[in-house]
Parts: sequence; C-alpha cells; structure tokens
Amino acid sequence: MLEFTPNYANGAGSKSKPAGRLLVLSNRAPIRVVSEHGRQRIEPTVGGVGATFLRLLERHGGVWIAWSGSKSAPAPLRMPPDAPCFSMVFPPLTERDISFYYHGMCNRGLWPLMHLMPQNCHFHAQHWNSYKSVNALFAEVTGKHLGAHDRVWIQDFHLALTPSMLRKQRPTLPIGLFWHVPFPPESLLRIFPWRRELLEGMLGADLIGFHTPRYAEHFVDCCARICAMKVDRNAGLISWQGRTIRAASFPLGIPADYFAQLAGSDRVQARVRRIKASLGSPIMVLGVDRLDYTKGILERVEGFERFLELNPSYHKRVALVQIAVPSRTKVEDYARLKRHLDELVGRVVGRFSSEGWVPIRYLYTQLGAEELVSYYQAADVALLTPLRDGMNLVAKEYIAARNTDHGALILSEFAGAAEELKEALLVNPYDVDAIAQALKQALTMSEEERRSRMNILRRRVHRNNLDLWSQKFLGELERQNAVSSYAAAAG
Ligand code: UDP
Repeated sequence: MLEFTPNYANGAGSKSKPAGRLLVLSNRAPIRVVSEHGRQRIEPTVGGVGATFLRLLERHGGVWIAWSGSKSAPAPLRMPPDAPCFSMVFPPLTERDISFYYHGMCNRGLWPLMHLMPQNCHFHAQHWNSYKSVNALFAEVTGKHLGAHDRVWIQDFHLALTPSMLRKQRPTLPIGLFWHVPFPPESLLRIFPWRRELLEGMLGADLIGFHTPRYAEHFVDCCARICAMKVDRNAGLISWQGRTIRAASFPLGIPADYFAQLAGSDRVQARVRRIKASLGSPIMVLGVDRLDYTKGILERVEGFERFLELNPSYHKRVALVQIAVPSRTKVEDYARLKRHLDELVGRVVGRFSSEGWVPIRYLYTQLGAEELVSYYQAADVALLTPLRDGMNLVAKEYIAARNTDHGALILSEFAGAAEELKEALLVNPYDVDAIAQALKQALTMSEEERRSRMNILRRRVHRNNLDLWSQKFLGELERQNAVSSYAAAAG
C-alpha cells in the first residue's frame, strides 16, 4: 500500500464538514509517487495550491480529477489511504495528447499568450484539436463522478473549455473556474486564432476567478469586444445564453501558518546556520523561481551585476543565491533560457569573484519544503522580478517564513502579488538600473523602515490566507450559481 504523508498544517475552521461534495479538476495532480527502499509512497508536492485542494477535499469529500503526469493512468486512489475521505481519478492521456495538448497548446500556446509574450507563442490547429479533446475527456470523466448536490471547481488555463462542456451535461451545476495566470488585454487575445471558442468555453462556469481586478477587467472586456456579449463592467457580469456569469478578483493566499511554523523549527534553524556559514558573505539576497522566461531571471542577474559595478563597497559582503527549478525542459525556449542563464552567471562569477567570495550561488534544482523555507529564513532580501506573473506565491511564502520583521522584499510591479504587497519595494523588472537601485535601497534603508514594511506585509499575508481564499470563492460560487440558474429558468 502507498503511504501518504501530508506536508501541510490543518487550517483554522477545517474541522466543520460542510454539505455538498467538491470535484476539483486540474491539469496535474499535486502528488508524486516516490520510490524508496523498494516501497512506494505518495508525497504531496511542496508549494503551489496543491496542498490547499488536498485539504479542501479532506474537508468536503469528493473527487480530484487530474492527469497523472505520465502516459500511464494509475487506478483511482482513495485518499488519504489510512482514513479515506476523497478519491483521485486520473484521466488517461495518450502520448499524442501529452505532446499536442500539454507541450503544444498549454506550454507553447496559452502560457506565453496569457503572460503577454506573443514572441514565444506557437499556435497549431492540431494542438488546439488535441486541447479540445482532452478538455472533453475531463468533462466526460467528471460527468461519471457527479452526484446530485456536487460542486465543480476547475483550475486554470489547461481546462478552459471544460466548463461549457460540463454545462451542456448539467445546466444548473455550480461550476467555478479559477484562472491562475494573468489574463491579457483584448488587443493581445485577438492574436489567438480560437479566441472566441476559448472565451465561450470559460463562460460555462458561473464564477470565474482571477488573481487581480485588472485580469478580471480584461476578461470582461474581451467578452464585450471579441464576442459582442452584453456586459456590466462595474459588476464584472457577462450575459450569455440566458445565464449571468461573474468574473471577479480572488487573490490567492498561502497557508501562512504552515510556513511560519516550519521556519521556527529546530531543523530549519540548524539549516539556516549552515547556509549562512557556507556563503562567505554576511548578506544574502535570494531569488527562487521555476526556470521560465516569464520570471525575469536574466534581467535579475544583470541587475545584480549592475549593483556590483556601482557599489564596490558591497563586494565580499553580499551574495545572490538563485534557486532555479527545472521546468518544461523539452521546450526549446526553456532550453535556450537555461543556456543563457548558465553563461550569464558564469560571466558575473568570473568577473567579480575574489578570494573567498563568489557573488552568485546558482542552484538548478527543486527543493523540498524544509530546505526552501531554510533559504527563505536565511535571506536578508528576496529579489523576485518576474516580467509577468499571475500571482507569485514565492513572495508570499518568503514573508510568511519571517518569524520576525527582519528582511526585505523587492518585487516586480508585474507580479499579481504586487497589487496586495504594496509595502514591498516595487520595481520594473525590465529596468536593470532600477533593480540595482532597489537592491541598494533594501540594503541601506533604516532598520525602522524595514521592520515597519515587513510587519505590515506579514500581517496581511497571514490574514489573507489560503483558507480565506477558498471560503470566499466557494461562497461566491454558491451565490452566483443561484443567480445564474434563476436567470436561465426565467429565460
Ligand atoms: N517551490 C518548490 N521548490 C523549489 C522552489 C519553489 O516547491 O525549489 C514552490 C514554491 O513553494 C511555490 C511554487 O513552487 O509555492 C512556485 O509558485 P509561484 O506562484 O511563485 O510560481 P509558479 O511556478 O507557479 O509560476
């Protein structure tokens, strides 16, 4: 039997079991199967929203429907194995689906489109057809598991068409869609050959959630201008086929208590001491990202290089630790980015290193929770400069992992998180000089100012946590479904 070790804390209010099961749909399951000493164990993946939905499903009961991540479709799992309260079901994807739907349409088409990077977009009709058939497969599998009072919560741009496909099967089913990436303005969405089908597919949901009000506005605007639908921009409402759909902002939170508790543990504290001792300089600046062209890692390293050029007094006193998680390594744009980053880091290290000091430590790896939180704890400054990011959870995790008001956050103004984390030092990630200046400011600001900024950020991240996010979304879904169903019945 597979063992299961949850890596998240149970949140406040998680004891009460509300009525009605939840069916969660996402491209990937938030688990990985680890083989150790001949035994297999299921481990939840560390970050992201996976842990939240595992917790929600433990609370509500229901089914998680997701691709297993490989060609094999494992048998359904009862979770957690020792006290099952929900199931995980894995729709089978063929090799062609993985290539066309996932690598093609999702990674090379929709991902750059949503992140406003048309230069990285590749659109092919075969990929779109495969996307449609995988979305239909998810709708079909979901239909088989639906009970009378269930609600469906679909995650992200991989499954944009599934809401409408499910709506055809069940006209009054509560369907929520959460969009975890940005949503582009109308002028950019227009370059997508299947823009209308995409929007109509999403509108099968009663409620469509985005990280920021701006993304929701873009979506409503696209419905009005591309599909000539009747909309109420102020209220975020779209009328379509006799139903009223709401698009609104629900900024994703994190399980802040989990990060704070882990940060305070003896094991993490011991690791923090080891990390600091091994660095060879008293000040640590940290970057953590998947190795993705949206994350602005090249610009960040160039900004750090400029900082070293302009501030020789910081030589031997500061080091940048960049954790780059391998991602989509089969896609050429990502392989090229990796080559550029390797070269750039090599150049900066070669240019500035001197006896006992290496200015950049570059780790090309994925860390587990304990290690990651140790780096968060050890860092005096987090330097997170995505060119575009739906939210950027790392920024919130860094803040939650501060047990005191020590530390500073430099954040791209183009990350969704910047809307909430206004007390961070916000920078234009395309401006290498601005990054260098923000670093100088973070390192020279008064202790009082640093503490005051971090204190406000910590309180906000703890307050707007993951539990609150899911409660707000599900509460609003119930309301909107009632409105939408009423309008459909009356029409
Ligand atoms: N993360 C991780 N191990 C690492 C680096 C990052 O598990 O070595 C997790 C991190 O905890 C965060 C997620 O990856 O929850 C990244 O989320 P974010 O929103 O910042 O970016 P995304 O990768 O989703 O675009």
